[in-house]
Amino acid sequence: MKIKALQSLSFRLTIWYIVIMVGIIILAGFFLYERFQQVLVNDLDARLLDMADDVSESYYGSRGVTWADAIRNVEQEFQEYNPYLQVVELTDRETGEIKAVFASDKIPEGCYMLDTRTYFRANRADIDELVYQTVEKKKLSHRPLRLILLPVRGPYIVQAGISLEVIDVDLRRLLFIMILAGGLVLVLASAGGSFIIRQALQPVNSVAETARGISTEDLSMRIEARKRRDEIGELVDTFNAMIARLEKSVKKIKQFSGDVSHELRTPLTIIRGEVEVLLRKERTPKEYRKTLQSTLEETFHLERIIDDLLFLSRIEAMAGMEFQKSLDLDETLLRIVESRELAARGKDLKLKIDQVSPVKIKGDERLLERMIANLLDNAIRYTPEGREIEVSLERDEGNGILNIRDTGIGIPENAIPLIFDRFYVVDKSRSKETGGSGLGLSIVKRVADCHKARIEIQSTPGKGTLFRIIFQAEPEPDGTG
Ligand code: ADP
Repeated sequence: MKIKALQSLSFRLTIWYIVIMVGIIILAGFFLYERFQQVLVNDLDARLLDMADDVSESYYGSRGVTWADAIRNVEQEFQEYNPYLQVVELTDRETGEIKAVFASDKIPEGCYMLDTRTYFRANRADIDELVYQTVEKKKLSHRPLRLILLPVRGPYIVQAGISLEVIDVDLRRLLFIMILAGGLVLVLASAGGSFIIRQALQPVNSVAETARGISTEDLSMRIEARKRRDEIGELVDTFNAMIARLEKSVKKIKQFSGDVSHELRTPLTIIRGEVEVLLRKERTPKEYRKTLQSTLEETFHLERIIDDLLFLSRIEAMAGMEFQKSLDLDETLLRIVESRELAARGKDLKLKIDQVSPVKIKGDERLLERMIANLLDNAIRYTPEGREIEVSLERDEGNGILNIRDTGIGIPENAIPLIFDRFYVVDKSRSKETGGSGLGLSIVKRVADCHKARIEIQSTPGKGTLFRIIFQAEPEPDGTG
């Protein structure tokens, strides 16, 4: 299935990337604009101070110069700023009265930019707390005016103003450059970002492509490992490891179904062969009886295999289940030992019960019964007549340890790792003879796994075998163990 372009991760990542880039550019532009405006206004303030100073110096510097002359001179000098100059006299401090001594032509008579209190405050100000203000005076200028009030000798305030219009040109130019540069940066960054994102996600597409080609029929395919040890490399390795595990279990399942068919087919072939031979001619009742007897045995064998297989699949379905019910393992053990006493006696075996301590575990009674029965049946089956089998259940710290020790034929060392495999038997003819299906110990292992129990085996060929199953026991009522 192909992913639609709009739903693709690379498209969404690119969009996110662009959105974040736009945010950053706008924020940076805003900051830059504000800073630049501030710098320009500071520059204006310096000019205003120069103007006001010049007016004062021109007036006080030489005799015979009037405020009008001083203002005209400075207007001339700072022509390009088109200044708004005014000299205000603070006539009466008590009543707060002020009077304009002289002003630029642009300022109508009786027009003051600020309220009288500000003029009186400016009069008392030191050089480092000069009054700078920005005021809206729509009648005088469509842009706000930046003003300085400079106190001079006597009861005068020199007021100089410049319309913010003069910095507008610079600001507009900056805005234009910023939009152009921002747009360019955005286009380049988006193209670069989208390229990088596509490059980074490209291996994911090839992983998906390979994964699409894998089926249970052919699990031999692997995704080509990457040289670089990055996240994708890790994904590829994990994926390959998963396919390897799948391949192994599919192989096991195939092997198992092959084994099952084989194991079921053998007794059926025997039955069929014997019946066919029997039917070829007339037989005596004794011959009929003999063949029927042997067919019956084969049917028992078949039944046993099927029964064991069903039991195994039932345990496998229980894998990972937590058992809630507590049970007395000692009672279960004694019950099964008792049920096998007759079989043991039949082989003249001494079935000894050593110490059996009370052990409570969380588990399933039926599974545990089957496990103990299988171990005991094996012990009986693989121990020659007249010898002995010993069973015990000990408590060791938090564990309940079940021991089944026989003095039988033992298991060769190299066979020990294999005996829990399904259908594995050490000696085929002997196993058949004793009615084994090769599934008994597989069941034991699965039941142990279900109960989180551990199995240990000690065996010496010709001397005997000890199976130890170590269960996690529940604490004793008095709190020990
Ligand atoms: P089977 O039905 O053949 O007994 P199991 O799965 O129970 O199958 O056991 C697998 C093989 O392990 C047996 O064929 C046998 O060779 C060996 N084995 C199991 N238990 C014992 C034992 N107590 N003593 C000797 N060999 C044993």
